[in-house]
Amino acid sequence: DRIVTGDVLGEEEIIEQSLRPQTLQQYIGQHKVKSHLDIFIKAAKMRSETLDHVLLYGPPGLGKTTLATIIANEMGVQIRTTSGPAIERPGDLAAVLTSLEPGDVLFIDEIHRLNRSVEEVLYPAMEDFCLDIVIGKGPSARSVRLDLPPFTLVGATTRAGLLSSPLRDRFGVLSRLEYYQEEDLASIVERTAAILDVEIDEKATFEMARRARGTPRIANRLLRRVRDFAQVKGDGAITERLANEALEMLQVDRLGLDHIDHKLLRGIIEKFRGGPVGLDTISATIGEESHTIEDVYEPYLLQIGFLQRTPRGRIVTPLVYDHFQLEVPDQ
Ligand code: ADP
Repeated sequence: DRIVTGDVLGEEEIIEQSLRPQTLQQYIGQHKVKSHLDIFIKAAKMRSETLDHVLLYGPPGLGKTTLATIIANEMGVQIRTTSGPAIERPGDLAAVLTSLEPGDVLFIDEIHRLNRSVEEVLYPAMEDFCLDIVIGKGPSARSVRLDLPPFTLVGATTRAGLLSSPLRDRFGVLSRLEYYQEEDLASIVERTAAILDVEIDEKATFEMARRARGTPRIANRLLRRVRDFAQVKGDGAITERLANEALEMLQVDRLGLDHIDHKLLRGIIEKFRGGPVGLDTISATIGEESHTIEDVYEPYLLQIGFLQRTPRGRIVTPLVYDHFQLEVPDQ
């Protein structure tokens, strides 16, 4: 498992629960999304209405589930959590919808993975708070309309482009989460350290923030791993020197790149003189699936400007040569 993945690893979910901010005020960064939601939530409460349906999208680990929980807390309602792949049949969704209390938040993670027949149940539920169900079979079958309690659907997806447009159009609020700035990640590390009761100095905090790839989940994970190291190799306190040692041992470099990023970037430099080179060729050279490269490895490298996509293939930028202390070749 990659330590720098934005996805949940192993048993992490349990510890993550205890680290989740509970209110908008505790939620660090994402100022635009936060200020919009703050207004929509306050307005809905002033009118004693349910909040409009909210779609949250962005890479894994940026705080979508956390925000869904916060929305429910701020609205003072319960949250029911499920996911696209968990709702297999229309009946599964109907069961969830009919069990909601008025005003509740229904959180559907990975909402792009709902199948078509389930989606069709969701449309009238979102639009008119009702459920059309067919009773009986054959000529005696008839359709019955059931009223549902008003609710707020919060959908989360890493791939907004994969959402069907009828579904996307039924969300009143669309919020895109961005990778976090270093200062915000440093605040997150500081907050988590306080919760875990770990002593950490400011330089070490920033060292971890820098290597967290813009992602709170990774920042918190690095902190937990470095804490183990500090306990065994030191007196438990995390200093800059100790953090650097630990992160080096974990093979996370000073920009948060690991051996897979290195293999990818060095592969393009050494075998293709920095590109352009096609995705399939890279895939064959480094022995990783094209779609894994595209969905998992590339996004952060594109984000930090280390890779560029061109019509003729991928190119590594001069920043990469700098990072590896290599000469930029003549064109
Ligand atoms: P996602 O659902 O987008 O994959 P999560 O909401 O599960 O991400 O967040 C992953 C972890 O990062 C959580 O444990 C949470 O504590 C932390 N986290 C995410 N966003 C923030 C934030 N803005 N401030 C503080 N901690 C955060």
